[in-house]
Amino acid sequence: LTHVYKDLKRGRHFKVLVNPFGGQGHAKRIWEHTAEPLFKAAGCTYDLIYTTHRYHAKEIAKELDIRAYDAIVSVSGDGVLHEVINGLMERPDAVIAHKLPLGAIPGGSGNALSFSLLGEDNGSHVGNAVLGIIKGRAMPVDLCSVTQGNNRFFSFVLQSFGLIADVDLGSEHLRWMGEARFTVSAVGKLLSQATYSCELAYIPAETNVNKIVAQYNEHHNQPVVWANQTHDELDQNHQTITDKFGSVTDPIKESDPWVVEKDQYATVVGAKLPWISKGTISHPAAQPNDGLIDLLIFPKNMGRIAGVQAMIGVETGDHIFSDKVRYMKVKAFRLTPEGTSGYISMDGEHTPYAPYQVEAHRGLISVLTI
Ligand code: ADP
Ligand code: MG
Repeated sequence: LTHVYKDLKRGRHFKVLVNPFGGQGHAKRIWEHTAEPLFKAAGCTYDLIYTTHRYHAKEIAKELDIRAYDAIVSVSGDGVLHEVINGLMERPDAVIAHKLPLGAIPGGSGNALSFSLLGEDNGSHVGNAVLGIIKGRAMPVDLCSVTQGNNRFFSFVLQSFGLIADVDLGSEHLRWMGEARFTVSAVGKLLSQATYSCELAYIPAETNVNKIVAQYNEHHNQPVVWANQTHDELDQNHQTITDKFGSVTDPIKESDPWVVEKDQYATVVGAKLPWISKGTISHPAAQPNDGLIDLLIFPKNMGRIAGVQAMIGVETGDHIFSDKVRYMKVKAFRLTPEGTSGYISMDGEHTPYAPYQVEAHRGLISVLTI
């Protein structure tokens, strides 16, 4: 991990992972036609790999010589970066490896990171994404630790249950539609008014939507804090990454301020980024490094009209002001689904249908951006 600003004349050196299966299968073309010529023009060099199977990106990140690269770049959706992060976190030197900057070139159907960095109009703009990677700086971004059974893994976008998980994972057959697959399938699910039962426990940080929005606006008037630590500082500062609120297999501690409820819901989704995909700003007050998770809850019995209104609101983020919708900042949450089968999605990836607990860790990863 040569520090990104050390030598401005030298082009950066990247590990580039292209997923030919992501989105509508355009990632290879995006790389060859748009991204690669820009990398070359900027004097950047790279080792390129086309991923050939699920978990390939994770295997690469686990074995990578991290000191040889300025960043790992993916040309795909969020799934490949999810794997890269988990590969880095499973290394014996995870406390160092997790700071290797990541770069996202949108080439999947769910490009939450690209939209959250570049905004609605530019989220799928390959040139803007490449600019952030070849010339941008590393911004610290929170990472969520997830425990499920005896496993622990990490999620950087969202953890979803109910409608949004069904839309994410149950629309694979619509992959040819590109980003539209999420909208088409969400409208179908909303009209069917399906509900999902679970026990939900959370540690609230702020539950008043107006206060959350005010804090968000205040934060956005502050300058961005860039990551500028070196390896040595990291070695000293991050010895271990432990979960303050324990794991999903621990009983809920009375000394922590958990709120527990059991109900049916349309969807329960935790997130660290505002956008899920183009036109879907599900968590508009999410901040990259506030150390908190934004929790969105659509209750049961919203009714078809309120449901469709909420769907329209998600396009701008206005749904959080609806009196039917709950939106809060939490330090951690635990979701225990009822029944034995259904969908749980972590960053758009299939996850077993079993209880899980999520806790945010501040600034654990860093992401290149303009
Ligand atoms: P999308 O946004 O389209 O879902 P992702 O980046 O999330 O794109 O990738 C989707 C999935 O594709 C991930 O689970 C990843 O592991 C998997 N994958 C990577 N390479 C291949 C491949 N060659 N064939 C099939 N699946 C792959
Ligand atoms: Mg995906």
